[in-house]
Amino acid sequence: MVELERILKTFTELVSIPCPSGDEKKEADLITKKLQALGVQVKVDQAGANGISTTGNVWGFLPGNVPGAKKVLFEAHMDSVAPTTGTKVIRKDGVLYSDGTTTLGGDDKVGIASVLEALQIIKDEQIPHGDVQFLFAIGEETGSYGIRYLDPSWLKSDFGYCLDCGGSAGEIFNYSPQAYRVTYTVTGKAAHAGEEPEKGINAIMLATKGLSKLPWYGRKDAMTTLSIGLIKGGKASNIVADECEFVIDMRCPDVQKLDALRDATTKLIEQEVTAGGGKLKVNCTLSGPAVFVKEDEPVANLAAAAAKAEGFPVQFKFTGGLSDANFLCGYGLPTLNLATGMDKIHTTFEQLKEKDLVNTARWILAIIREAAKK
Ligand SMILES: [Zn+2]
Repeated sequence: MVELERILKTFTELVSIPCPSGDEKKEADLITKKLQALGVQVKVDQAGANGISTTGNVWGFLPGNVPGAKKVLFEAHMDSVAPTTGTKVIRKDGVLYSDGTTTLGGDDKVGIASVLEALQIIKDEQIPHGDVQFLFAIGEETGSYGIRYLDPSWLKSDFGYCLDCGGSAGEIFNYSPQAYRVTYTVTGKAAHAGEEPEKGINAIMLATKGLSKLPWYGRKDAMTTLSIGLIKGGKASNIVADECEFVIDMRCPDVQKLDALRDATTKLIEQEVTAGGGKLKVNCTLSGPAVFVKEDEPVANLAAAAAKAEGFPVQFKFTGGLSDANFLCGYGLPTLNLATGMDKIHTTFEQLKEKDLVNTARWILAIIREAAKK
């Protein structure tokens, strides 16, 4: 059975170590020690090489004793949003806070503490299980670097569960967008703004004309968004601007729809730019692949059955943000993000209900049990 005082002690120990992105070594060492004490085989990979971090991702493997069981992976990230030095956990009316000078670090130590609690119970109660993999990643908060740079051949599981989302136990995030960062560079022609502006082609004006033709902006539907986040152009106020660059963030979990959106957007902008005598260069980069898992897929069924077994109301959800789950899906491992209760994250007001720590551990355990039934 999950023990509140024990999981709280683990959580407090984990968040007491300063763990900013890029310097996760002390946390990785502590987690390694704890995993090994629980009979888990541990390896650290090279994802942190080239100055990315003081450590790599920590991988754990618990060999199964139930033949034919589904192999599951649990993932959580080790880094926390600064300030993370000197975190003190304050307990008040069943809720955990920091003392207001640091983040709490529940994002994402709730995932790690819950995994360790589940492992303790598996060991103590000798619960039969299939192969279980654990992945504690570096650098999530600065762009999922740990997952981007891992060696995908290390992924040996059928299903992945990322423990890094707000909401109550039972909430399953099965849709999250593929995201593009599309950079548009408009080239015009420079001229003196006062003496002969008619000889110039103003790239800033062409860019704004193109943008003004977009039929919508912000949110198109429940899962499709488009936003301009950056624009720069011109060299001086007395020169007709010969260059303007702007960047559009486009997101949708349906990749075909997203590609069509990007192409249609580009066409509209290009028409205006070329009609005005300018040239357009377009560069599309992938910010992250989609989580696109239907509710009746096996990875979703397993998480839902486990939640039901614990009495957690199951709810499938969409999130517009990216997490490590997106990049794991990108490697072909169907991965869902599970709600762990973290709240007001990335602020010094961050909080976590004690019961969410307990429920996350219960859900992990239930998934492991359920996987052994298949
Ligand atoms: Zn997180």
